[in-house]
Amino acid sequence: MADTSPYAASAGRSRGRRFAEDPPQGRNEFQRDRDRIIHSTAFRRLEYKTQVFVNHEGDLYRTRLTHSLEVAQIARAVARGLRLDEDLTEAIALAHDLGHTPFGHAGQDALHACMRGHGGFEHNLQSLRVVDLLETRYAAFDGLNLTFETREGVLKHCSAANARKLGELGERFLRKRQPSLEAQLANLADEIAYNNHDIDDGLRSGLLALEQLREVRAFARHLTDVEARYPGLTDRRLIHETIRRMIDALITDLAHTSAGNIRRSGVKSLEEVRRAPALVQFSTETAAEQQELKQFLRRNLYQHFLVARMANKARRIVTELFGALRGDIRMLPPQHRTAAERDSPERAIADYIAGMTDRYAIREHRRLFAVEIT
Ligand code: MG
Repeated sequence: MADTSPYAASAGRSRGRRFAEDPPQGRNEFQRDRDRIIHSTAFRRLEYKTQVFVNHEGDLYRTRLTHSLEVAQIARAVARGLRLDEDLTEAIALAHDLGHTPFGHAGQDALHACMRGHGGFEHNLQSLRVVDLLETRYAAFDGLNLTFETREGVLKHCSAANARKLGELGERFLRKRQPSLEAQLANLADEIAYNNHDIDDGLRSGLLALEQLREVRAFARHLTDVEARYPGLTDRRLIHETIRRMIDALITDLAHTSAGNIRRSGVKSLEEVRRAPALVQFSTETAAEQQELKQFLRRNLYQHFLVARMANKARRIVTELFGALRGDIRMLPPQHRTAAERDSPERAIADYIAGMTDRYAIREHRRLFAVEIT
């Protein structure tokens, strides 16, 4: 039995699964959740989905799969320090991006626009939909039938309108309650992971230059340290030594600040955690520096003209796929049509498109729009 704190989530006291199952043998409920996530189809698809760079642009860039593994690594490191439940933290981290569309935010924005008037498209809600409904692996139920605690962590944000439809799971958004500390932690581990790997990928791609990053305090401080310690160090090693120090400093700050917050709050149970303000947080200075770093990335990487061109193409692919399938629902592969009857044709198309990898979407677009008959 792991040595966790009274304020940690506990597999033995889980609120349970939507469909009752026999208790697992040789592993606990949260470990079973993690295992089901790893074996899911949506998890394997993360290998060919991207956030900033399209999958075929290079083999060394992060994909959503490696991103999710980095999030899990960071989250588990902090969970152990805070004596939270590592298994739940890992399950949430591995599942947090399962609902992402192909082509990162560009794909998601396009799908949301297509779904206007049909309930919209929110990627957090879609991650929940994947684990609750869209995975078809088990005889007794749709989805992965995960515990309440993992599902709660997966649903990071949600609009009030959608929260009202989600019953117990949506309640916290309406009552302004917090999720478990494990869920709060997975959320910030996500931020640490993408800020740092986007710098790394940005430099690797040549869209960012090292000199530009000297204006970012969180980066410059560690860069100067490394240069002083290893004069003459260049290229990849210099970048890697700087980034590993950044990640380490962020993890240390997050663990230290959160431990202080938890101590001062006096929370002694998960129920008290839910009623307290968010306790897993960066210090004020670090949070400000992270904001500055995000702004830098937005200005210089996410809005880079080459990224903007890619995003434009991605939006076009998603929008045209949606339009074609909506124009004739018979073109939707039969296994995706059940949702058309259960929900709406638009939702079925959105599920189909959201499940696509970058390259599948490109191929499917070609299949539907290329003039030659394929
Ligand atoms: Mg993420």
